[in-house]
Amino acid sequence: MDFRFSDDEEAFRREVQDFLKRELPQSQERAVIHGGETDEEWEFTKQFTRKLGEKGWIAIWWPREYGGLEGSDMEYLIFNEETAYRRAPRMDGGGTGIVGPTILAHGTEEQKKRFLPPMARGEVMWIQCFSEPDFGSDSAGIKTTAVEDGDSYVINGQKTWISFGLRGDFCYMTTRTDPEAPKHRGLSFLLVDMKTPGITVRPITNMIGADGFCEVYFDNVRVPRENMLGEKNQGWMVMMTTLSFERGTLASIAGSMRRILDDLVVFTKEARYNGQPLAKDPLVRQKLADLAIGVHMARLLVYRVVWMQGQGLIPTYQASMAKLFGDEMNFNIARVGTEIMGLYGQLAWKSKKAPFNGEIAGNYLNNLGCLFAGGTPEIQRTIMATIGLGLPRR
Ligand SMILES: Cc1cc2nc3c(=O)[nH]c(=O)nc-3n(C[C@H](O)[C@H](O)[C@H](O)COP(=O)(O)OP(=O)(O)OC[C@H]3O[C@@H](n4cnc5c(N)ncnc54)[C@H](O)[C@@H]3O)c2cc1C
Repeated sequence: MDFRFSDDEEAFRREVQDFLKRELPQSQERAVIHGGETDEEWEFTKQFTRKLGEKGWIAIWWPREYGGLEGSDMEYLIFNEETAYRRAPRMDGGGTGIVGPTILAHGTEEQKKRFLPPMARGEVMWIQCFSEPDFGSDSAGIKTTAVEDGDSYVINGQKTWISFGLRGDFCYMTTRTDPEAPKHRGLSFLLVDMKTPGITVRPITNMIGADGFCEVYFDNVRVPRENMLGEKNQGWMVMMTTLSFERGTLASIAGSMRRILDDLVVFTKEARYNGQPLAKDPLVRQKLADLAIGVHMARLLVYRVVWMQGQGLIPTYQASMAKLFGDEMNFNIARVGTEIMGLYGQLAWKSKKAPFNGEIAGNYLNNLGCLFAGGTPEIQRTIMATIGLGLPRR
């Protein structure tokens, strides 16, 4: 089996690396950590996303007519890996990474022309409104309703744990359109402008001390009928499509893990303990070697998912495996990183004295939550057990 990228793909990787080196000063390298950005930082994130959009890279594999370059899934993977490695701040994940490809799969021509080009240009921030106070893993049980009224649907209900709720221009959401139908068959999927009257967003402070999560209230929110993605009452299938793409965006995690590992290697070579570089400590070396194996494995699992998508296959348990292993590894690497760095690893994210701007401590707190987002570890293991291993459902 040949694991190498093609010459063209390697050339593309170098092009992205050169661009990032030129356009992203080291002082601006900053992973977007769950809502912890100041307004000024967010402005930079927006501008930088537009620059990436101008290159055509954030939607590289889309058809040209909707703003893409008709590149490959592998190029998209390379782009995601490299931008994450360089901690390039981006706000396009929910759009070009998740709902955009879902619109490509289920949207009408009018929806594709209306929603996709601004996404591909990096102009809009899309947020995901699925979870409700009593329905997270059981995402088909949601109660928020959308009732048909003339040319519109009128939405009422509450969503919660919505990432970047305060920054969203548009949201994609699940609603109940047939309360009498079995729960998976009465859902519909809507695309909603966050400026629509009747929407209220309230921040919830997370453990980084940032307004990462939000509650979003819908009070008689009127959405044009043409904003329904897919058929009425077929929203479950559309939502499943978003999740398969969400799990396919894991290349970013692989890139950011590789960066933390490289940073830790640099740190241990420079930091001294008892007059010796920390890198000479046998325990530290063992830990770093273990991390390197995990990072490599996480990367290969992601490559398989993206390769399958490129072949027109739909990864199911393979995506769950990649997500679960990647998320656990991502948390693990930050945890071990804080240990290796001693008290410097305990310094707050963005603290001036913290090595690497406190990114490792920031990741430690941030990555714990990532284990839950997009499906908890138990749900991923259940998918592995049933679809992957063929075990009976309980
Ligand atoms: C960082 C972060 C960002 C998020 N961003 C968003 C967002 O942008 N939009 C959005 O809609 N949601 C978002 N969420 C919410 C996320 O999707 C839910 O937290 C997740 O689906 C779990 O739902 P829950 O919190 O209601 O937990 P529950 O579903 O109530 O689960 C509680 C516990 O029970 C376990 N459990 C539940 N059902 C089963 C089962 N069948 N078998 C075994 N164990 C089970 C779970 O694994 C978990 O440990 C985010 C969450 C996090 C942490």
